[in-house]
Amino acid sequence: MVLLVDDQSIIAEAVRRSLAGESDINFHYCPNPLEAQALALTLRPTVILLDLVMPEMDGITLVRRLREDPQTRNVPIIVLSIQDEPATKSEAFAAGADDYLVKLPNRVELIARIRYHTRGYVGQLQRDEAYRALRESQLELVDSNTTLLSLNQKLEDATKAKSEFLANMSHEVRTPMNGVIGMTAMLAETELSHEQRDYVETIRTSAEALLTIINDILDFSKIESGRLEIESHPFEIRTCVEESLELLASKAAEKGLDLAFVAEDDVPLMVYGDVTRLRQILVNLVSNAVKFTAKGEVVVEVSNHAVGLHFCVRDTGIGIPQDKQDRLFKSFSQVDGSTTRQFGGTGLGLAICKRLTELMGGEIWLEGEEGKGSRFHFTIRGDAADQPYDTVTGLGSALRRKKLLMVEDHESSRRSLRQMVIPWGMNVEFTVDAAGLLTRLDQTPPPDVLLLDRELPGVEMEKLLAQIRALPAGKNLPLVLLSTQRLRTSDTVMQELGITQSVSKPARRSSLFEALTRAVTSVDATRKPLSRTDLDATLAMQMPLRILLADDNPVNLKVGQSYLHKMGYRPEMAANGREVLSALEQHPFDIVILDVQMPEMDGFEAAREIRSRYTEEKRPKIIAITGNAMEGDREKCLEAGMDDYISKPVRPKELEAALRRWGKPKG
Ligand code: ADP
Repeated sequence: MVLLVDDQSIIAEAVRRSLAGESDINFHYCPNPLEAQALALTLRPTVILLDLVMPEMDGITLVRRLREDPQTRNVPIIVLSIQDEPATKSEAFAAGADDYLVKLPNRVELIARIRYHTRGYVGQLQRDEAYRALRESQLELVDSNTTLLSLNQKLEDATKAKSEFLANMSHEVRTPMNGVIGMTAMLAETELSHEQRDYVETIRTSAEALLTIINDILDFSKIESGRLEIESHPFEIRTCVEESLELLASKAAEKGLDLAFVAEDDVPLMVYGDVTRLRQILVNLVSNAVKFTAKGEVVVEVSNHAVGLHFCVRDTGIGIPQDKQDRLFKSFSQVDGSTTRQFGGTGLGLAICKRLTELMGGEIWLEGEEGKGSRFHFTIRGDAADQPYDTVTGLGSALRRKKLLMVEDHESSRRSLRQMVIPWGMNVEFTVDAAGLLTRLDQTPPPDVLLLDRELPGVEMEKLLAQIRALPAGKNLPLVLLSTQRLRTSDTVMQELGITQSVSKPARRSSLFEALTRAVTSVDATRKPLSRTDLDATLAMQMPLRILLADDNPVNLKVGQSYLHKMGYRPEMAANGREVLSALEQHPFDIVILDVQMPEMDGFEAAREIRSRYTEEKRPKIIAITGNAMEGDREKCLEAGMDDYISKPVRPKELEAALRRWGKPKG
């Protein structure tokens, strides 16, 4: 689009002719420079050709005007002049012209220049347009970003409100549950008729079941909102499995089920991981297995794999139809409604197990057929941790003061074994043959563990083992076999013979240490009675403490008091933080147990106040009791200056453990 501004129509005619054959050039002519600017605005030329000397307005002035107007500022201007003096040219360029041609220019040159300037100008227009569009979408982006941000904030607020609601709910629900469970336990210890005992037992199991459901829902919401944190501490795998089995031992015994645990020898003693969450998975799977098995056995197997630890929980129960198996790990789903009616449950257990295994870097899956039992497998990451014990001194190990009976006919071997076990703090006795062994087992006190040479001359091992197991002292005696052959705990020979562990000869210090440790700590879940609630009645004698117990709920206060009584303590009580502070003014205490939510002055405030009033040596140790099982609670308690915390409902054993941790009486 070319616009020519010239007062002489003859020039216009010449230019028109020059451009006539060019189909891509559109020519316009304006004879009056006063109208040129307005025309340029409507025509939007890509090049303006301009005469310098015109009667109405001279060309230089017009160039300036065009350059002042933002709409024509960048339109290329080619001056057409009869003058060829450098001074005029400079003036034109200074005013803002882009090019200068002497009239009448050569046709080819004129067209070439028009094309050249047009290309440059159109390119610039396109760039500008692209920039503008870019700017616009950038602005749109900023806009939607702002909207997103505020939406996000709203979501975060909602999530926070939800978890706060959950935390409060859990406190609200756990507080009365604490009362129910605690009072039931107390009631069970009073004189009751058969019928009443039956009712109490029903209340207890219902309360426990309710608590399980509450905990499941809480856990599930925590996982859902990404607030569940997996910890990593060294722990003993075997102990973890054994504790889980112990929890279900009585249920299994009631149904006459065998509960067993087999760990491959290469499973490390200690691994890094979250022992609480692993226990939770195991308890869930084993309790399902026990629930859905009428006769036979439930077995937990642990092995070590490249990917980590592999657990398998298998049962001989009703099994699960193939086509229902993939549904199981979804939340709230059960195989069918009728099992729910028969066995109860929320259908959350396996969904939680799935999330937990994933959080621990593993997976969970299922094998089995309807009617043929189920095998639940799961893996977790588990890096082996260093053993906490020094295998030379055995310091801190479970072997201290344990009585070891050793049957070994070789003098030299006896001597070297003795050298190893004495520093571990074991009391060692020796016999050289089977007869000596059986005589010794008839005497008191019985040994805690037996180390038996497999190759005793003239002894039929199977027969000897049967004889040992027939004796009262030998029935449950952990047995470690010394053998020139390598045996694995899972070998059937070993299981048939009732051997707990085996060590190959000559025994290495570390393998002997491990085998003995496993043997003395091994729990036969089917035989060992539940001992979780047995409190140490002599604790107050071993560790006299002045204890102050604070809770606004009179029932919980009573429950706490009864637990402390059982350990021989006579605690003083307070109903809120203010009462705690005034009790402390009367006389010193060693331990203050504080419920965190109390009227007037809550536990946090009381803890802060105690910290500020007393010096580190003078102040009592503070143990918090919290109903909020939410993440961050521990931090909140510790921030407020508490030394430890126990969550509700208070487990007597946890209370005892906390007292042991903190109970160093002053002066
Ligand atoms: P719940 O907490 O209700 O037991 P789970 O998620 O633990 O929920 O289990 C869901 C369902 O899976 C159970 O109701 C049962 O139908 C089935 N199930 C789980 N474990 C077993 C098992 N070992 N044998 C047979 N069925 C099982």
